[in-house]
Amino acid sequence: MKNMSEINRSDKLVTSDGTTKDLMRSDPCSRAWVEVDSKAIENNSRILKDFIGQDCLLMAVVKADGYGHGAETVAKAALLGGADRLGVATLEEGIELRKAGLDCQILVLGNLINSEQLFSSLKWDLIPTISSIREAIICNNLGERNDRKFVIHLKVDTGMTRLGFDCNQVQEMFSKIDSLENISLAGIYSHLAIADKDLDKKTEQLINPSFTEIQLTTFEEVLKNIHTSNKYLCRHLANSAGTLSDSRLHFDMVRVGLSLYGYFPINNFKSDLNLKPALKVKARITLVRNVEKGVGVGYGHCFKTQRKSKLAVAAIGYADGVSRALSGKISASIGGVLVPQVGAIAMDQMVFDITEKSDIKAGQVLTLLGTDGETFISPHEWSDLSGSIPWEVLCSFRNRLPRVVT
Ligand SMILES: *Cc1c(COP(=O)(O)O)cnc(C)c1O
Repeated sequence: MKNMSEINRSDKLVTSDGTTKDLMRSDPCSRAWVEVDSKAIENNSRILKDFIGQDCLLMAVVKADGYGHGAETVAKAALLGGADRLGVATLEEGIELRKAGLDCQILVLGNLINSEQLFSSLKWDLIPTISSIREAIICNNLGERNDRKFVIHLKVDTGMTRLGFDCNQVQEMFSKIDSLENISLAGIYSHLAIADKDLDKKTEQLINPSFTEIQLTTFEEVLKNIHTSNKYLCRHLANSAGTLSDSRLHFDMVRVGLSLYGYFPINNFKSDLNLKPALKVKARITLVRNVEKGVGVGYGHCFKTQRKSKLAVAAIGYADGVSRALSGKISASIGGVLVPQVGAIAMDQMVFDITEKSDIKAGQVLTLLGTDGETFISPHEWSDLSGSIPWEVLCSFRNRLPRVVT
């Protein structure tokens, strides 16, 4: 017997069929993983770019690590497909893309509030969103000290009541900021409050068009009243929902997230656009077992078998991004056949009832989300079941799940 300290961990494992495996390199598909189809992102980007037309720029929103798809992968694919610019939420997300060699315009959608953050933004050529005069002045000072113009976009609140200048002040503030020596005011934008559930499931129209209409009118009013020498001022307003539902919302650029990843803001959205979901979540079955009728399964015995059953344990749990609120509500696909998940979803594992598909063996792979043959499981289904939204479902897959780009 060797004791632990004598075992060389760079040893190769010789398997029964004579092949060797390097123990230092772990297989991303050994447990649970996310598969990302970068060609799908590229195609979605191309489809969206064609849809908005030549005169409108496409900003690919890749915040939250590209909605869980991997920001670098998504950014590169989107740009290949024709996206013009990138949008991120934080400074760190922007810097990460610069370090990955992306040199297009990047807009930081979140608020940067102090001179260190804004200095980094300048240094890494990231465009900050400015919602107050205080930060505009910091930018101007930084520009002066660094002998260059600080490129910014100004945000105006047209009814989201989050970031942005108050509509009543924006005219005055715009002139003030535009006159600052070391600022280049390159864009002005606003954000729509209506993104998803306000689209009618039958007509695919906005249920509350009056509110988007108000935001549109307010934004147009603001644009009419500002004066700038910059004839290339980039005006933008639409998210995915706005982009897909009304071309009057497009202006000079649209900022798309969800649709780039292949989803419509509501399920069954009728559209001619052939967007393709880019993400799959897969997990391996680690154990198959037969149990008697009336046996409690998992924590709290939330589920008891109603018959003699065959169960499969899958190596994925809520720490991997599958919300515990989905316990007992979802199904996974194996070879296109759906098998129901039973019992409470645990941190690292969950159980499926495979009585109806009893040929399943340990080591086989389940598709929890995405396409498997003819079967498609959408993040909309999960979010409907857990009181969430598809955006949140997608950006939960982080930390532990390796990503495999196909
Ligand atoms: C996240 C975000 C978007 C993208 O929204 P989708 O609904 O995913 O298309 C656009 N604009 C801003 C300001 C955002 O924060």
